[in-house]
Formats: sequence, C-alpha cells, structure tokens
Amino acid sequence: MSRTRTADVLVVGGGVIGLVTAWRAAQRGFATAVVDPEPGGGAARVAAGMLAAVTELHYGEQTLLGLNLASARRYPDFAAELTEVTGLDLGYRRCGTIAVALDADDRAHLRELHALQRQSGLESEWLSGRDCRRLEPMLAPGVRGGLRVDGDHQIDPRRLARALVAACERAGVVFHRMWAERLSVVRERAAGIRAADGTDLAAGRVVLAAGSLSGRLAGVPDDALPPVRPVKGQVLRLTVPKRYAPFLNRTVRAVVRGSHVYLVPRENGELVVGATSEELGWDTTVTAGGVYELLRDAHELVPGITELPLTETRAGLRPGSPDNAPLLGPTACEGLLLATGHYRNGVLLTPVTGDVMAHVLTTGELPEEARDFTPRRFSAAAIEEQPA
Ligand SMILES: Cc1cc2nc3c(=O)[nH]c(=O)nc-3n(C[C@H](O)[C@H](O)[C@H](O)COP(=O)(O)OP(=O)(O)OC[C@H]3O[C@@H](n4cnc5c(N)ncnc54)[C@H](O)[C@@H]3O)c2cc1C
Repeated sequence: MSRTRTADVLVVGGGVIGLVTAWRAAQRGFATAVVDPEPGGGAARVAAGMLAAVTELHYGEQTLLGLNLASARRYPDFAAELTEVTGLDLGYRRCGTIAVALDADDRAHLRELHALQRQSGLESEWLSGRDCRRLEPMLAPGVRGGLRVDGDHQIDPRRLARALVAACERAGVVFHRMWAERLSVVRERAAGIRAADGTDLAAGRVVLAAGSLSGRLAGVPDDALPPVRPVKGQVLRLTVPKRYAPFLNRTVRAVVRGSHVYLVPRENGELVVGATSEELGWDTTVTAGGVYELLRDAHELVPGITELPLTETRAGLRPGSPDNAPLLGPTACEGLLLATGHYRNGVLLTPVTGDVMAHVLTTGELPEEARDFTPRRFSAAAIEEQPA
C-alpha cells in the first residue's frame, strides 16, 4: 500500500461540480486534490447546457429558484473569468429561450407557468403563435402561443468541463486519475479515501461530489450518505449545415404529450435535442424508443429537423435528490462535505456551487443563500420534525 501527501481538501468526483469546488478551494489557498478516473467527464458530456432558471421553474421548487437565479446572475462574470484564466471558449451564448405550446392543453399549461413566473417576479413575455414564428421561422405552423424568456441562456457543458480541468491545473489542483473505493474514517472523522488500487489519499476534509454515484461510496456513515439517485436522460446531437444557418436563433422548448423536449442551437452548428427522463438505475443504453420519441416530438415542434444529419446519440445520468435540489455543505460526519444532487440544473448551478463550497470550506458555515440546501434536511431528525 502506498501513501500520498495530504491535501487540505480532497474532492471525490471531477464532474463540473467537483471541478468548480476544487478550483475555488485552490484559489482560496487550500492544497486541493481531485480523485476521478476521468475528470471532466460525467453528465456534462451529455447535458444540453441550458441555463434556464426561468423556463425550468416548477411548482413547489421556488426555494430552488432562488439558487438557480443566483447562479444565472453569476454566469457572465464566471464565464469571463474562466475564459481569461484558460484562454478557452465555453460556447456561452446569451441567446434567450422560447417555450411554445402545440395544442390547447399545452397552451393552458404554459399560461399557468407564465402566471407562476410573474408571481415570482420573473421576466417572461406571452406571445401569440404568429409572434413565435416571427421570432423562429422554423417553428411548426401549428404552434399556438409561447413564452419568450430573454434571460435563459446556454453554455456548452463539454467545453465548460474542459475549461474547469484546465483552470484547476493552473491553480495547482492535483488530479488522481483513479476510483475512490471507500471513505477513510478515523476517530469518527473523514480522513481521506482509499482508491481502487489500494492507494490511501489522506486529507483534512473530503468533499463528495460524485454525481449520481454519490450515495455509493463505501465507508460513508449511514447518517451522512446522500439520498441521490440516477435519472437517465437520452440526448441527440444534429448538425446544421451552413446553408441552413441560422436554423434556430434561441433555445426552443415545449411539453409534447407530457414529455419535455428542447432544441438547443450552438454557434458552431451543433443542435442538441433532449431529453428523456427515465428511472432505470445506472443504465446508460441509448434505446430506439428514446431516439424515436425525441425525434417525433422535436419534429412536431420544428419539422425541418428531419433534413439535418444526426451526428450523435448519448445517455447520461442526472444526480437526482428527493426534492430535486442540491445537497451542499457539512454532513453528520465531521470532515465530510457534500456537493451533489444537482439533478437537471447542475450546469446552471456550477458558479454558485463553487462560491458556496469555497465559503463553507473557509468558514465552516453555509452562506445565507445556500442554507436551505444543507444535507441535514434529510436527516432522520429533520424529517421527523416536518409537519405531516
Ligand atoms: C440528459 C441530460 C441533460 C441535462 N441538461 C442540463 C441542462 O440543460 N442544464 C443544466 O444545468 N444541467 C443539465 N443536466 C444536469 C447536469 O449535467 C448535472 O446536474 C451535472 O453535470 C452534475 O454534475 P456533477 O459533477 O455533480 O456529477 P457528474 O457529472 O455525474 O460527475 C461525477 C463525477 O464523479 C466521478 N465519480 C463518481 N464516483 C466516483 C468515485 N467513487 N471515485 C472517483 N470518481 C467518482 C465520475 O467519474 C464523474 O466524473 C443534464 C443532465 C443530463 C443527463
């Protein structure tokens, strides 16, 4: 068995959440390491990269909305800083979003969403079907109305993850390209991890940021284990040939027969079509049914997509939590912190998560804006206290 130098902070998982945590921790002067066999991979390899605080608003998720908006506000400066540090383009595009309705039921649903957005003080504008098509001429003639949300943007999550790896390297973060097999706990305190090859990595504090696998690390005491589950999403990538550009100017989304579908146009001609939502454990098979449903629904929205080359199909796993919100900060196990459970908003929540985790690592406390996201809300005692 080999021993490796102690880090102040050891982050388990090098997806966008673990990477931003490591980058910000290193900037605060902590000797920081990341353990992941493939840093920069994870769900960001599949994700569409919508930064959609407003169009992703759901009933019962108003607390999460506050954190989503806090992160959306940080994005321009965050993206500029990351590009300045690394020289890498992130595909950050402030293009806005349009959510449209294809029939009377969809329109009623969108009207409700619009009312909720306005009650929540958010900016979104109701458009007639004709106005929608004026903005996006490729939309189907049957579109019955929609919401224009100029504040919901997009980024390319693959480029974001690559840039975060580069920023970490520049900030002196050490990468251990291996699996963490178990958490080491010494005198009831997290003290590092044992890697799959038997290497022991010792650390002052451990941040568990292993995405949908966060609840599977051996050795984590039961009362600190995050209740995170994988939620599968299949996504297609099409390419818009130059002669068709601009095919779409902004992200287009809709609910078709109860399923969410979106089309996210990148500046480089990539068009991302997503996404299914399936509770099938850690399965990442791309299925004929998944591809069929996405193409069928996207075609109803934008019939012209059938002309485009289909260049990639993939499935990834969202780290889902019981209330669809992340788990951030200290746990019942001294020295073990969580940064996980970001579900369908992990790319959007990357900037705020980095700041929140740096604050916790520095002060021991969650900042005010993140208090509601403590992992302790899922402890047995907290659940018993909730009103029936
Ligand atoms: C289809 C789909 C579409 C999405 N679209 C959007 C979107 O439009 N907008 C948005 O904001 N979000 C979106 N998301 C969600 C977003 O991608 C995730 O919330 C985010 O990527 C989660 O990041 P993470 O770092 O927490 O986890 P992950 O990306 O899962 O990364 C976890 C990392 O931990 C590593 N790991 C796990 N276990 C161990 C271990 N034991 N030892 C070492 N390393 C380990 C893995 O190798 C991996 O690299 C989407 C997700 C999917 C699947």
